[in-house]
Parts: sequence; C-alpha cells; structure tokens
Amino acid sequence: MATEFFSHLKCRECGRLYPKKAIHVCEFDFGPLEADYDYNLIRSQISRARIESRPQSMWRYRELLPIDGDPTVGLQVGFTPLVKARQLAQALGVKELYVKNDTVNYPTLSFKDRVVSVALSRARELGFKIVACASTGNLANSVAANAAASGLKSYVLIPADLEASKVLNSLVYGTNVIGIHGAYDQVNRLCSEIAGKYGWGFVNVNLRPYYAEGSKTMGYEIIEQLGWKIPAHTVVPMASGSLLTKICKSYQEAVRVGLVEESHFSIHGAQATGCNPIALAHKAGTDLIKPQPKPNTIAKSLAIGTPADGYYAVNVMRKTGGSAEDVSDAEIIEGIKLLAETEGIFAETAGGVTTACARKLIEAGKIPRDEPIVLCITGNGLKTAEAVQPHLPSPRLIKPSLREFDQLVAAELQGSPATV
Ligand SMILES: *Cc1c(COP(=O)(O)O)cnc(C)c1O
Ligand SMILES: [Zn+2]
Repeated sequence: MATEFFSHLKCRECGRLYPKKAIHVCEFDFGPLEADYDYNLIRSQISRARIESRPQSMWRYRELLPIDGDPTVGLQVGFTPLVKARQLAQALGVKELYVKNDTVNYPTLSFKDRVVSVALSRARELGFKIVACASTGNLANSVAANAAASGLKSYVLIPADLEASKVLNSLVYGTNVIGIHGAYDQVNRLCSEIAGKYGWGFVNVNLRPYYAEGSKTMGYEIIEQLGWKIPAHTVVPMASGSLLTKICKSYQEAVRVGLVEESHFSIHGAQATGCNPIALAHKAGTDLIKPQPKPNTIAKSLAIGTPADGYYAVNVMRKTGGSAEDVSDAEIIEGIKLLAETEGIFAETAGGVTTACARKLIEAGKIPRDEPIVLCITGNGLKTAEAVQPHLPSPRLIKPSLREFDQLVAAELQGSPATV
C-alpha cells in the first residue's frame, strides 16, 4: 500500500516523535511510545460502507493499524460475535446487555490473537526472523500458533505454574516454551534483558507499540456490530491495563475519523482481588499503582502485579466516569457459571472476572440498569478447565439399559408431572 496512514511513534508523555522501528520507550522521560496516524488522510479514505464491504476480520479497519504494507499474519483474526445477552441481562436486572465473545477468536481462542497478528505482521516488515514474548498464557498460545503459521521461529516465556491447557496450547505448535520459576513480573524483566541482548522481536517488549494497537479492533467491532454506536458502558478485564486503554482509544478514533457520532461512554475495569493493583488504585482515588509481587488468584491470565499501563488505565476510567472492581476466586467461578448457564458461553477465569465485576458494579449502582452495556469476554473456558472442574457435578453413570434410564428420569421427575 503506497498511502501512509501510520505516520510515526509518539511518546505518550512528552509527545516527541520517533521513527517506526522496534523501540518502545522515550529516551528523554522513559514514557511509552504509541502509534500515531495521519487522521485527516484516514478520514478522507474510509467510510462505513467501505469497511462493511471488506472481509469479516479485524483487518477491515486496516487504516487504523500500525503496519506499512498489507497484513501478512493472522488475516482471519477477529470479527467475533457480539451476542445480545437477553438471559444474562435478565439475571443481572439490566435492560440491554451484550457479550463481545472473543472466546471464539481465531486461531487460539482469546483476544490475544488480535495483538499478535499486528505485532507479527509488523515484525516481518521490520525483518525479524525470531519472535518471542513474556506471557501469562494466552499471548504465548497466540505467538506460538501465528509464528508457526507464518514461518517465524518463536520463544515463549511463561511462569512455570500456568494451567496445563495453556502450556499444552503453546507446546503443540513446536515453539520453544520456557517455564520460569517466578511470577509474571520476573518473566517480563528477564524478557527485557533477552530482547536487549539477542535482538529478537518481543511482541510485548520492543514491539509493544504495534502489539498494543491490535486491541483497538475489539472496540471498532463493538461499534460496528451495535449498528455504528458507541456503547454507554463497556466492562473490560485488566492485566497490564493495555486492552482497557485501547478500547477507549478505538472509540475516540472512530469519532475522529467520522465513523460514528460522538456520545458519552464510560469504561469500567475488572480485576481479581488476588491481583488487583489497578482496581485498588482507582478505588483509592490515586493513579499511583502499588506493585503486588505475589499475585494469588485463579485468574492467572490477569495476574500482573506491576501493570505497565496501570497508570493510563486508571486515568481512562476516571476521565470517562468509569469504575473499577475486583472479585474473589469464588465470585469468579460464579461468574463463569452464570455466563455459561444464561448464554451458553464458556469463558476462562478472566471472563468470570468480567462477568462478576459487572454484576457488582450494577448492584452498586455504578452502572445504571437502563443503559446499554457491553462485556468484553476475552478467553476460552477450555483453557482453564481445572479452575471450574471442582465446582461442577460429575455425570450420572448408568448401564446401557432403558430400564436404568427410566429409573433415573423417574427419580428426577418425582413430585413433578411427567413431561413426555
Ligand atoms: C491478556 C489478557 C487480558 C488483558 O490484558 P491487558 O494486558 O490488560 O491488555 C484480558 N483477558 C485475557 C484472557 C488475557 O489473556
Ligand atoms: Zn517522552
């Protein structure tokens, strides 16, 4: 593509401009670098009709993503269902509720496929042959799969105590999976050192400005799938806090390039109580994030004790009139079951966090019952099976005999009229 929509990297603190390379911090104030665009050019080139005529993937918003040429990795990622959740709405006592269902994102069943398809497309433009990441599980799965599919070599570094399915879902692609005895923060610190020494493309270290922009597509899709409207309330799970800040950026950009009318929106953040540095700061009315070196929660995908974008996430919630909440492991399990039983959607622990936090915020009156609400459900329940397993009944076992089945049904229907 000859036209350059993506113009440069820009420091989020001082606004200094940087070339579009594999760099992620400002040399002057260590502020994070972020992709910036020629919005006037984009505004003159895109329209709702143009976007709607394109294939149903996250790349239909290509002008607003930080690559120079055509995407080469993850062409089928995104455009997951936005489910109108009538039964969950009834259970929570609200009028209009939607689930943005990234449990079925392609190819690795979490929203991380969005960030990875951008990061690896850019990594190839920048000439990297080896890509890597520090991950709480889902990112490792997606880097492993997408690297395999695009002929890149990959290394994924994870805390050693992750869920068995998350580890398996990286190993199967033939990547190098390195388990680290330590929490995510220690994995991440090690990755910064490796990135400096080996010069690999770390999707969430030196390629982070590109990676992070992929999250915006979840927001654009929500707007389009609502019939080009910004939802009044969006509830977003937080690990580093990046997804939450990028949902906000996507809503602002959609207004800026003329895709949607400006309207008031609030973004709410969800964490597990066992690792809640961002929620805690927001509740305390500060934007100083106190690190939590020893996370302890079943929501391992969200267990980042020193969240890189925590400060910015708190500010997004504050500026948009959003709230933060956190929930216990027991509440997370209840959230997973509620979503599954009302909507038939099996989410991982992070989805339980989002659902349970939304319930709490609604009950506390922080999300009004009569305004549209979207829950961002970011990962698939089959990846964290061991968290829910102990809380589910076992199947009832019978011999392959009609008589035994009759007895079982009769016992069940005792007292209630037959329904055959
Ligand atoms: C990574 C992840 C998130 C949020 O990540 P951020 O670092 O806050 O962008 C949310 N849900 C799941 C399932 C994840 O894997
Ligand atoms: Zn700066």
